[in-house]
Amino acid sequence: MARASTAHKYIFIVGGVMSGVGKGIASSSIAALLKARGLKVTSLKIDPYINVDAGTMNPTVHGEVFVLEDGLETDQDMGNYERFLNQSISSINYMTTGSVYLSVIKRERNLEYEGKCVEVVPDIPLEVISRIEKAAEGADADVTTIEIGGTVGEYQNILFLEAIRMMKSQHPDDVATVLVSYLPVPNSIGEMKTKPTQYAARTLNSAGVFADIIIARAPIALDEKRRQKIALFCNVKPEHVISAPDVKSIYDVPLNFEKDNLSGQLCEILKMNKCSPTIDLKDWEEFVRRSKNGGKEVKIAVVGKYFDSGDFVLSDVYISVLEAIKYSCYAVGVKPNIDYISSQQFEKGENLEKLAGYDGVLVPGGFGETGIEGKINVIKYVRENKIPYFGLCYGMQLMTVEFARNVAGLAGAHTTEIDPKTAHPVIAILPEQIEKLAKKDYGGTMRLGAYPCELTPGSIAQEAYQAKSISERHRHRYEINPDYIKQLENAGLVFSGKSPDGILMEIAELPKSEHPFFLGTQFHPEFRARPLAPHPLFNAFIKAAVERKSK
Ligand code: GLN
Repeated sequence: MARASTAHKYIFIVGGVMSGVGKGIASSSIAALLKARGLKVTSLKIDPYINVDAGTMNPTVHGEVFVLEDGLETDQDMGNYERFLNQSISSINYMTTGSVYLSVIKRERNLEYEGKCVEVVPDIPLEVISRIEKAAEGADADVTTIEIGGTVGEYQNILFLEAIRMMKSQHPDDVATVLVSYLPVPNSIGEMKTKPTQYAARTLNSAGVFADIIIARAPIALDEKRRQKIALFCNVKPEHVISAPDVKSIYDVPLNFEKDNLSGQLCEILKMNKCSPTIDLKDWEEFVRRSKNGGKEVKIAVVGKYFDSGDFVLSDVYISVLEAIKYSCYAVGVKPNIDYISSQQFEKGENLEKLAGYDGVLVPGGFGETGIEGKINVIKYVRENKIPYFGLCYGMQLMTVEFARNVAGLAGAHTTEIDPKTAHPVIAILPEQIEKLAKKDYGGTMRLGAYPCELTPGSIAQEAYQAKSISERHRHRYEINPDYIKQLENAGLVFSGKSPDGILMEIAELPKSEHPFFLGTQFHPEFRARPLAPHPLFNAFIKAAVERKSK
């Protein structure tokens, strides 16, 4: 029997026809629109893979690993949710098949099922539902969006569709499903085809789930004839078919959805009486307007190692970094021109002159040996040539290695991640990490999530943040070796951010008298940069780049 309506409403977002059509952005946009209708919103992502979290996956395979406040390593879609919602999300909002099974199996081993036979159905979907409900309650959300990875019809996500079916049968008025489908326009025909979407809707129906809304992703806008056709064949009202043509920027998507009144339709379907009849998108529209302004261009080089994949360049690996650069450019009023440069080409000290044409250089986080000496050469070049430099995590550690070798006179200095026998281990493993690595306990064991950091008065960092203490997200096993702090400081490096106990060096910089902007952070500021709240350190970096440009 159906239970009474609860305080919480749920919107599931599933994909049809193929992946990669922007289901994550659709979910983020729906969440942002409902927030702009005055509702409290939270967003979940369910990934069908067995990995317990995204932390152990190679970024060239799976894109960026996004770290939440409480330290969970997740899919990059979680980053999109936080950026579009302009709010932090907790780790209960992310699950994978692996994490769900792990909880159920642990519970079984603890006798918590009291001797019952634990079964794939219903026990796995029940665990999924319990997590969704916990997330909604934890965030006190009026409405919760839940994106299911992959596309309908895949063996991998069938149990998640079963969770939707079960929730809907229990709470018919509180659950809605959005199918984000693709409508191809084959070159040979030149006409938009609806049949693959019809099949996707039927596949969803065969799992006992019915779409309330269909988002028609396509290269072009949906015409009336096809809207009617989809409505008729897929059991939805014509006004519940939303046109979603390709757009230049992902930030246009919410505004585009709203042209078809998507948030209004959802409020009506779910009878959300708290939903405001009008929508407040002023700040978002202002952001989009600024993002399209011409203005002076700044050229930023992002020097990393994960860019090349066959004939393609992957920028998704550093998506939070790229977005953070863009937000600060828009805030400062300049146009970003970002180049992705593979560090391998600088390994032997060649090609470095290329960097002279940039207004700023950024080395993002990373692991392992590939391209390391190339990055160190790049850092030496930008330090000597006074090109603004921003180093994130590995980018800060390698900046310290470069400074140790070339300024502090510590020949052969290195991080023990690469050279455990280095004469000068200026970057060394965090003490609590040694045992974990010895036991091959790699998953979810780095120093992860938000930690506080105290800023040195008068430093570039402190000036940028305009605060005495801050909190930022981490993901690392190595750190500045405390035994070398004095020597590095004596040579001129300033540690302008430290853990409150003074032991961990979280920010390193050169004073303005030495260099216009040469700063690295042990944390990942990019995870906190948002369209409506650009990050203070990225702002400072971009301002320094603009200054270089105007000289
Ligand atoms: N590999 C380095 C460490 O583990 C840096 C990690 C990173 O850049 N996220 O400490």
